[in-house]
Amino acid sequence: MDMIDPFGRTISYLRVSVTDRCDFRCTYCMAEDMAFLPKKDLLSLEELDRLCTVFIEKGVRRLRLTGGEPLVRKNIMHLVRQLSRHLDSGALEELTLTTNGSQLSRFAAELADCGVKRINVSLDTLDADKFHKITRWGHLDKVMQGIDAAQAAGLKVKLNAVALKDFNDAELPEMMRWAHGRGMDLTVIETMPMGEIDTDRTDQYLPLSLLRASLERQFTLTDIPFKTGGPARYVHVAETGGRLGFITPMTHNFCESCNRVRLTCTGTLYMCLGQEDAADLRSPLRASEGNELVAEAIDEAIGRKPKGHDFIIDRRTSRPSVSRHMSVTGG
Ligand code: SAM
Repeated sequence: MDMIDPFGRTISYLRVSVTDRCDFRCTYCMAEDMAFLPKKDLLSLEELDRLCTVFIEKGVRRLRLTGGEPLVRKNIMHLVRQLSRHLDSGALEELTLTTNGSQLSRFAAELADCGVKRINVSLDTLDADKFHKITRWGHLDKVMQGIDAAQAAGLKVKLNAVALKDFNDAELPEMMRWAHGRGMDLTVIETMPMGEIDTDRTDQYLPLSLLRASLERQFTLTDIPFKTGGPARYVHVAETGGRLGFITPMTHNFCESCNRVRLTCTGTLYMCLGQEDAADLRSPLRASEGNELVAEAIDEAIGRKPKGHDFIIDRRTSRPSVSRHMSVTGG
């Protein structure tokens, strides 16, 4: 039975944050001094597989692993390998991953072997010093090696860059040329007010309407209907022959076509990235060996999926719209 929410939207896309831990501390995502979940609160890989399988039985066709950084979860490839049986059976159309790329050179070949066809790599700058500054702990050369390894393994790579005022706005045209030159799409994302960070988001926030207007002074952008199952709206760039995506949760929300829910590594289901409401799936999962209780809890949660989010970034609103960091749900 399909999962259909109160607004008639069919839920066919599950994002699973397999860990809240990350080997980077991107300044817009996390505070430097983050408290992470005790290991005992995490679902085991077997429990994550069981939950994902219930969602697939209930109509999920695309599944994205994320984090934290998914590739730092111990034995993560065991879960990927297990989930790949749903690709083999045809129940799942796509198994994919969002990663910061730091561990990709180790895992790219195995991901491809498990049937992963495309991945998103988050990359906000091509300047090594700026990269270290924004990620606090990351090294650009490791990520570049990861991208090379992914492409060598035959994975299609899309780059995701958060557009940050006075940080990477001037560099984005060059990043786009570079990405397109290597056969990668680039998607730019507006920063969202999620979790307390060490800086003021108002100083970082760049509405993508401004970025698009500035790009249009140099490039010919044509809207295209291309979709990957996510919320990006794409343009074709005549000068590079590549695709550029815009994810605009702040200036133009896309909630009317939302097909997603998000599961965290503790078995908490968020029905909307921009709302606090959540459902506990860990208790019904652990309460019985059968899946009836958890399937009922999922139906109940989908039945209260909200219409949309109400993110605000301005000088008068000092508190983030939602208290949890993006690393809890993985975007
Ligand atoms: N570690 C993985 C990665 O770097 O892709 C997966 C998790 S990370 C939280 C997922 C994406 O969310 C990254 O592209 C990151 O840049 C983005 N992100 C984090 N905090 C954000 C925020 N407040 N607003 C918009 N995007 C954010």
